[in-house]
Amino acid sequence: MSEMLTVDGKPVDWNKPPKQTDLALWPRTTSGGKQVKGSARTIAHLCAIDAAARKKFGTGIVVIQAPFNTTVPASAGTHDHDACADMHIPGVNWRTQEKWLRANGYACWYRFPPLFGHHIHGFTLPPQSGVVRTDDFRDLGVTVGKYVDGGSTLFGVQTTSSQITDYYHHAFGLKNQHGEGTDEAWHPPVIGATIFDYAAFARSKAKPVWKPKDVKSNLAIVQQQFQIAAGLRKGKRIRTNGVGWIQNALNVKAGTNLVVNGIVDSATLAAWKKFEIKTGGTGAKSTPDPRSLKKLQIAFRFVGPEAHLPVG
Ligand SMILES: [Zn+2]
Repeated sequence: MSEMLTVDGKPVDWNKPPKQTDLALWPRTTSGGKQVKGSARTIAHLCAIDAAARKKFGTGIVVIQAPFNTTVPASAGTHDHDACADMHIPGVNWRTQEKWLRANGYACWYRFPPLFGHHIHGFTLPPQSGVVRTDDFRDLGVTVGKYVDGGSTLFGVQTTSSQITDYYHHAFGLKNQHGEGTDEAWHPPVIGATIFDYAAFARSKAKPVWKPKDVKSNLAIVQQQFQIAAGLRKGKRIRTNGVGWIQNALNVKAGTNLVVNGIVDSATLAAWKKFEIKTGGTGAKSTPDPRSLKKLQIAFRFVGPEAHLPVG
């Protein structure tokens, strides 16, 4: 597997995630044996793509040229700073790779001879800030090569063509090939919807701080915690095993991505409401009851007056 490393080569502690603009290392080298360094956002996305590629194609990605690499003249400076990496997924059709990477938030193009050797050139899309795409890297706080964002991060303003604009415009990101709609290969219907969510990735990597114990949880206390979180009751927020079981069950059974910490935080409350509505409730009550806990197959972990109400 590929777990992101700090610049010192240590595994990242995802319970204290680095800022997405901090530098980090990819745990493997390029196909040429060079270190792969980038912002944590860039490297984390490579890790996410690598894990997803293993699931989808049975093989991970191979990085051919890393960010912060100045040795390839044909790249015209696009790799001089953060974000751009060249890669391929061995054994997969080139256009399939391009389509799949685009669908996964990697702004990229299949490059081929005679201009280049076969590879996929691209970058992790930055979060969108406002409506001007050439500002997105600058507003994120990373520096990229001038043809990547038109020079916005290097010079403060756009001075030349930009690959990020070309990608959003379905163009090629190559000299004299910036015509809107000229790249007829597949693009996501809504490109913005594919942008990598670094915070969610960090949460998914965090280790549970809640430790399950083989004891029954008091449902009344758990319900009070949900009511306090929803602003329906005053009281102290506490950590309980019961909430931890519910968070864990929502992650496993309802596909959520909650931090399992035993505390009814806003994400837990929102996930609970969503689950209630999905399973036929109104979402208005927002407290776990025996019926809903049975649906999550964790009713047996709870005791308390309400846990003994008839179910059904
Ligand atoms: Zn490249």
